[in-house]
Amino acid sequence: MRIAMVGAGYVGLVSGACFADFGHDVICVELDKDKVERLKSGEMPIYEPGLATLVDANTKAGRLLFTTDIAAAVAGADVVFIAVGTPSRRGDGHADLSYVHIVARDIAHAISGFTVVVTKSTVPVGTGDDVERIMHETRPDADIVVASNPEFLREGAAIEDFKRPDRIVVGIEDERARAVMSEVYRPLYLNKAPIQFTSRRTAELIKYAANAFLAMKITFINEIADLCEVTGGNVQEVARGIGLDNRIGGKFLNAGPGFGGSCFPKDALALVKIGQDYGSPLRLVETTVSINDQRKRAMGRKVIKACAGDIRNKTIAVLGLTFKPNTDDMREAPSIAIIQSLHDAGARVRAYDPEGMQAARALLGDVTYGASAYEIAEGADCLVLVTEWNAFRSLDFGRLKGLMKTPTLVDLRNVYRRPEVEAHGFAYHSVGRPAADGTV
Ligand code: NAD
Repeated sequence: MRIAMVGAGYVGLVSGACFADFGHDVICVELDKDKVERLKSGEMPIYEPGLATLVDANTKAGRLLFTTDIAAAVAGADVVFIAVGTPSRRGDGHADLSYVHIVARDIAHAISGFTVVVTKSTVPVGTGDDVERIMHETRPDADIVVASNPEFLREGAAIEDFKRPDRIVVGIEDERARAVMSEVYRPLYLNKAPIQFTSRRTAELIKYAANAFLAMKITFINEIADLCEVTGGNVQEVARGIGLDNRIGGKFLNAGPGFGGSCFPKDALALVKIGQDYGSPLRLVETTVSINDQRKRAMGRKVIKACAGDIRNKTIAVLGLTFKPNTDDMREAPSIAIIQSLHDAGARVRAYDPEGMQAARALLGDVTYGASAYEIAEGADCLVLVTEWNAFRSLDFGRLKGLMKTPTLVDLRNVYRRPEVEAHGFAYHSVGRPAADGTV
């Protein structure tokens, strides 16, 4: 199959490289010239484990190309994927579809012969209808079918997720196009990955429903963590106790600083807006969004409490900035709101992240960056673990105690056990796991 992938970001680049690895001929089209130049010279514009090797192998095999020329890329393609961003629209929280609409027009101008156009971007229900209309208006003679194929990969495990997905969802109502999409995913089909063919509108809804459900699950356990803190329970044990029930499942039950990232916050909010537009409100999701927004700043207050209620002129060292480990993605990371609230309360903030500091510099003002956990801990009044990178899972507390002004750890990911940290003379604070004396 000849595939054009429009948008070479986290989703487009990983999907394009994986499709090439399946043996398809893939051209990734990207608006950002600098990104294309870097990709052509073998440099990855994002941090994603395994991606550089995959791109290198498939580029050398001649199956993966990069261009800024959408017309040339699309002209000979059997399938064109749209994988551009759909961020929150400024001011109202609806998904901003302007990039999708522009691309639909550009593709329509350039296609030749029967072409399946597939939205891989996360888009509100009915967007496939809009894309189809735009394309027909632009090129009334074009032989196209518009399908929906939402992507479920997770940053940090994106290649594994793409190659071994829990399911592939394809929203399509045309037999010719269904045959094309079956061929595109044939290698996964042979690996017995479940492929769900459904209507286009249903596929669009599945993606938002999945993300909103996961966001709700995280928010639920975060509220249970708060309850544990005032009642003396242990949220990790509650999570295990409920997660072993197959109807609930153990994943996405880690209490923490609230969900962030490029998807959950914007998708949950977009789903709320869709529900409101259609007069079918999603009150659970509305509440999830609002609880999660408040939670990030509540984590700032937790740090202040751990520092005896005052962090003015104190130095807080933040471990981990990205919204989760194994990515350099800072979009909607909880660290942003947490650091903002620390600044507001008068603290000096230092930070270290294994991959996210370049992206963080563009977003966070007045932060001093260091090259390791130990460098930022020097003279600090409090260490706050925000993102659970592996590098922070076996910290040398003896060394840290010698470096810090006050040995205090606020562990917002429940990475450590209280006794092991306290044994080194640290004051330890975590999420939903109070000590016998009520300390959280
Ligand atoms: P991204 O911002 O990393 O990438 C989008 C890319 O599209 C950018 O590189 C941008 O320059 C490019 N682009 C924009 N307009 C273009 C045009 N006209 N022609 C060519 N390229 C253009 O975004 P992403 O994280 O890859 O997300 C893309 C979509 O996939 C979104 O709808 C998102 O919700 C969805 N999604 C993301 C993830 C994830 O983990 N990031 C997972 C599943 C679904």
